[in-house]
Amino acid sequence: MTEAHISQSFAGAVDELAKAYEAVPFYGRHLDAAGLRPSDVRSPADFRRVPATSKADYRRHFPAGVLVRGSSMADDFVFRSRSSGTTGERLVTLAHTFTLAQRQMRTTSVNRDMLRVFAGARPQRVCRYAPPACSDVECATPFTTMESRTLEDGTLVLPVAHDLLATPPEMVAQAARELQTHAPQWIYADPAHLAFLLDAMAGRGLPVPPAGGVVLAYNLATGAALRRIRAHLPAATVVVEVASMSELGWLGMTCPEGGLHLNTDSFYLELLAHGTDRPAEPGELAELYVTSIGDQLSPHIRYRTGDGYVLVAGDCPCGHRFPRAVHHGRCRDYLVADGEVVLTPRVLDDLLGPAEWLTFYKLTHADGGPLQFRYIPVPGVDHAGPATELAAAIAARTGREVTATAVGHIESERSGKLFGCVREAP
Ligand SMILES: [Zn+2]
Repeated sequence: MTEAHISQSFAGAVDELAKAYEAVPFYGRHLDAAGLRPSDVRSPADFRRVPATSKADYRRHFPAGVLVRGSSMADDFVFRSRSSGTTGERLVTLAHTFTLAQRQMRTTSVNRDMLRVFAGARPQRVCRYAPPACSDVECATPFTTMESRTLEDGTLVLPVAHDLLATPPEMVAQAARELQTHAPQWIYADPAHLAFLLDAMAGRGLPVPPAGGVVLAYNLATGAALRRIRAHLPAATVVVEVASMSELGWLGMTCPEGGLHLNTDSFYLELLAHGTDRPAEPGELAELYVTSIGDQLSPHIRYRTGDGYVLVAGDCPCGHRFPRAVHHGRCRDYLVADGEVVLTPRVLDDLLGPAEWLTFYKLTHADGGPLQFRYIPVPGVDHAGPATELAAAIAARTGREVTATAVGHIESERSGKLFGCVREAP
């Protein structure tokens, strides 16, 4: 990331802060309480004096407190998204549809192949297969119609159970049938979900419709999920991973070289070294804080994502100017020993690689006791040997005892996501 580029992004954040202070009731009080005025903020270091904001702030002050004065939920072009956190409480966010569309297009500027897929999607037909809580319609009940699950933008939300791997066979058949009927130009999916559906379709001998592209979001794509998604789809299918949040839309996308580029045109992004408030160096584990740029409805300032990233040094071979980072998953799921992070969801998945011997896995860890690694084996493939090796590698890295167990089912989280590395709260 060039200095000029950083300062351009920072200038946008300073404007956003000034606007939020004047026009958004919550931010007026937030800065007053911190004894700050927007005019005090001249450098990134000054900006870090603005206390970080969180989901809790937006939940508590929704809607009037976090919207620009004079705007309302009923205005034209207002899109309402909701997310359910790990503890189940809903967070509703409002954003202008055109703002989200602009973020999506700017994020996609890193991948010409995906831009081409989007450009060819007129009128747009998309299939979404993701945790029900992440979708905007009720899709977890049977007997809903395709019409009732088709959004205004042409997205058909496929039916799925809250507990992905317990989705009843009839509902899997329904999703497969609808995927074939809707014949989407692109598919927007949670990687675990899509791997599950494509496995099931292959198992039933059902052909996969020729979508031009696949956008994987909502969750880290495991090596095992990517391996199967690529194997099930025609080789020409463009597959990208997107970093996104329901509150903010698309934040980053993988380029044709596989680098995840973060969108520093739509956002001022701060990567702060894990557990500190100083900027991280490349290679250092960091948490992402996001400030929106040019949001006319509900700006976010220093919004704490709870997601871990590591900035990648140097320029990408693809030549795009957006900085690259590796997504490490939710910070709350890190495994810490003696004050050091010894395992992240990404590090665990790197130890696994494409893992030809399993389909899904979950490592659960508590503050004490052995780490529990459960996995669903690939039928007909030796898994006991690789599982023992993996357990030894995790133990060597973490200094903790590890049990590895082959199982027939792995439960999703309450959010409907299937995470591969989960810290059990004390
Ligand atoms: Zn690149």
